[in-house]
Amino acid sequence: MYDPASRRAADFIDRQEAAVSVAEADRLARDRAAVAAILDKAAEGKGLSHREASVLMAADDPETTEAMFDLAARIKQRFYGNRIVLFAPLYLSNYCINGCVYCPYHRTNSHMPRKKLTQEEIVREVTALQDMGHKRLAVEAGEHPKENPLDYIIESIRTIYGIHHRNGAIRRVNVNIAATTVEDYRRLRAAEIGTYILFQETYDPAAYALLHPTGPKHDYAWHTEAMDRAMEGGIDDVGLGVLFGLGSWREEFASLLMHAEHLEAVHGVGPHTISVPRVRRADGIDPGDFAHGIDDATFARICACIRLAVPYTGMIISTRESRAVREQVLGLGVSQISGASRTSVGGYATPEAEEENSRQFDVSDDRTLDEVVHWLMGMGHIPSFCTACYREGRTGDRFMSLCKSGQIQNCCHPNALLTLKEYLEDYASPATRERGEVLIRKELAHVESPHVRAIAEKRLAEIAGGRRDFRF
Ligand code: SF4
Ligand code: SF4
Repeated sequence: MYDPASRRAADFIDRQEAAVSVAEADRLARDRAAVAAILDKAAEGKGLSHREASVLMAADDPETTEAMFDLAARIKQRFYGNRIVLFAPLYLSNYCINGCVYCPYHRTNSHMPRKKLTQEEIVREVTALQDMGHKRLAVEAGEHPKENPLDYIIESIRTIYGIHHRNGAIRRVNVNIAATTVEDYRRLRAAEIGTYILFQETYDPAAYALLHPTGPKHDYAWHTEAMDRAMEGGIDDVGLGVLFGLGSWREEFASLLMHAEHLEAVHGVGPHTISVPRVRRADGIDPGDFAHGIDDATFARICACIRLAVPYTGMIISTRESRAVREQVLGLGVSQISGASRTSVGGYATPEAEEENSRQFDVSDDRTLDEVVHWLMGMGHIPSFCTACYREGRTGDRFMSLCKSGQIQNCCHPNALLTLKEYLEDYASPATRERGEVLIRKELAHVESPHVRAIAEKRLAEIAGGRRDFRF
């Protein structure tokens, strides 16, 4: 029976509850008054339960879809304003002992060139990332106790934080590594990671068993309960994600929200971020082999509905998605995107030859960071390289209460302007710089507090004069 406060995966992701949510949603979706009442509740910006959000997912008529999209855009604006945070993944190692059938890094892929970055290679990769303008990374590594032990991950994080090339610095390292023990999470916390990210892949235990036939990841409960252990180990900010395409998407959607409800019920803090990847083509991986692929229209509705259900949670879209899809979902509540990503080990300093193909997935958006920044500004978004919250200790429930009250905007907005200014000064092309300066001047006028505006103006001038790393 569904129990969000339980510590057992089978209770907080109750399969029967997911199925009942979908069946009940099919019935209620035909009731216009019920749908309208849920939309009214969503408009309050306090979120929706998995059952309520499931009804919106079932109501796929054009009128409800339009209302959802409109509301998602307004809620994103209310909680996060028009800033979009940028990050890049950094693949440390593709050695892996797991057998995930949707990932080319699985253990039995014998023609995948296996690579693991040395600390010297990490310096080269991070220098290349800094030279693009990145300040925030998501570190990725396969699970391999011998090749990628936690000591290696922690040493790599220290190396990354220690690199300062010209005005460059990586100010937040998020980490996406396999489920581990409370003690290991404590060590990651001590290494000053930002968010701990772990995709569930699928919440359907039967599908999970088939998709993860071998390796430690085969253990569904160990994987599903990882965020509880991470929080017990002192990591306040955790990032959830489903790999859409693996399981029946409506049940996956309901389960993802049940997971968020569980974190809130047990730890008092929901997920810091939710990622919405879809299965992509890669070496030996064909998305067509997976029965539950979702089209772009459904994907957009999922993004909008997540924004309504968990308005305070950051939503992440990677370069798995094309420019066109990213453009649409940016207007539906997405708050973070990756830019200029390389999904192979060591791809930034030395782009790998096509025939080498050690990518975890093929990227659909291969533009440079400068092109992405220019494009975002053209659509009225503020590209942000902000990493302030974690560095100011605004994590976990402290962050969530600021976010839920809408006050975080008072930090996000000026911080976006300050970090964009740094980018323009240090890395932008002339066209991007020109567009950015106009945007900053326009947005400065929208900083509500005269006091904050005055400080921001002063700091912008100081950045132009060569100083760096201001934050609210
Ligand atoms: Fe290994 Fe992660 Fe790929 Fe699975 S998804 S094979 S755990 S790298
Ligand atoms: Fe993110 Fe905090 Fe910066 Fe806002 S102020 S962009 S929430 S780090």
